[in-house]
Amino acid sequence: MITSLFGNRDYLRLFTAQVSALFGTGLTTVALGLLAYELAGGNAAAVLGTALTIKMLVYVTVAPIVAAYADRLPRRLFLVSLNVIRAAVVLALPFIDQVWQIYVLIAVLQTASAAFTPTYQAVIPDILPDEREYTRALSAAQLAATMETLLSPMLAAAALAVISFHWLFLGTAVGFAVSAALVIGTRIPNASAATQGSFRERITVGMRIFAATPRLRGLLGLNLVVAAAGSVIMVNTVNYVRDTLGGTQSGVAVLLAANGFGTMLVALALPGVLDRVGARPVMLTGAGTLVAGLGAGIALSTATAGDWRWAAAIAVWALIGSGSAAILTPTGQVLRRSSRSADRPALFAAQFSLSHLAWLLTYPIAGWLTTAAGFTATWVTLTVFAGVGITVALRMWPRHDPEVITHLHEVGTVDAAVLADADRVDERHYRHTHVYVIDANHRRWPGRLETATAA
Ligand SMILES: [Zn+2]
Repeated sequence: MITSLFGNRDYLRLFTAQVSALFGTGLTTVALGLLAYELAGGNAAAVLGTALTIKMLVYVTVAPIVAAYADRLPRRLFLVSLNVIRAAVVLALPFIDQVWQIYVLIAVLQTASAAFTPTYQAVIPDILPDEREYTRALSAAQLAATMETLLSPMLAAAALAVISFHWLFLGTAVGFAVSAALVIGTRIPNASAATQGSFRERITVGMRIFAATPRLRGLLGLNLVVAAAGSVIMVNTVNYVRDTLGGTQSGVAVLLAANGFGTMLVALALPGVLDRVGARPVMLTGAGTLVAGLGAGIALSTATAGDWRWAAAIAVWALIGSGSAAILTPTGQVLRRSSRSADRPALFAAQFSLSHLAWLLTYPIAGWLTTAAGFTATWVTLTVFAGVGITVALRMWPRHDPEVITHLHEVGTVDAAVLADADRVDERHYRHTHVYVIDANHRRWPGRLETATAA
């Protein structure tokens, strides 16, 4: 395949549409924090925690339902309508003056986002039938999401130096409008409903692969570490800057940009390192960095005065960004390594749901506990969650984690075709060696004993 991924005009349009929508969402995140502070002041954390919890509830409930039915809708019209809805909602946000209105608008906005993502993901394989291009598209999408976490707060910080945050919502609306316009110009085939199983089947397949693959069980723990540390950034930044440090709205964006800067630095440095040492040490180092960042944050939260706290906070926020990137950047590669190409969409969908469940746990803690008990108690609690996550990752994901595994198959339990290259070892067992992933013929991970006997 010499033709570049971005040589495909329809894909290029759709990718740009996705990136515009991502930036729209990112700017909303910054502006929403400032809006919550304007309406709720010291209780902004509780408002943000609730709003983000609503977002995650919508994501884990609406996204699967839409994904199950997206095949039956006129998809281009659907994607355009969702962007128009999102643009309309963010245009309404600057005019609201009650906290409950935030919740209603966020519920509508995130329902549209939750419906957009799986539909978009389902469209890509139809536009890029080539397996390798599709895989590269998945990586490009992941990279775009990582970049967005950095660049939107930076953009917001720059904008806030000259305008008030209300105008950020206008920028967001423009992002969604551009996205809608690009989708209109794209040829999107309607799905042939027979091409994939139902979402229920796909999600069960994805979950089963997660449960049976040791490195993916480790990834579950890592998801929790990312959510625990990330919640501090998403929920607590506005109150920490404005109430504790006495900063302005630009100060909020500066800390968020520091977080994004850490993310970008690591995301850019990582590909070479990943090739040399593999995903496990990188991701565990990332998890360690996040726990260290939380620890430094706890120490910082006990300091009551001093301008040095700005420099320290910037360092802590950047540290948490870099740790998150060290976990998020290799995630796609780990998922690819752990599935046949046919099961890949199911596995990515499972990771989408499972990572959002982790955020669903940590957002309310960051929001409500902060209002009730302050930063120190909240960040200690989140550090305990992160500690649980890193322990799970260390225990579940073995240091020795080869792709190719020699293993046994019991006679009569798998398709004959699978055993074409296998040797018979006794009357009950066959043995062969290949890249091992969980699929219909390999339903559980070979035990260490079995591997040792087989080799
Ligand atoms: Zn096999």
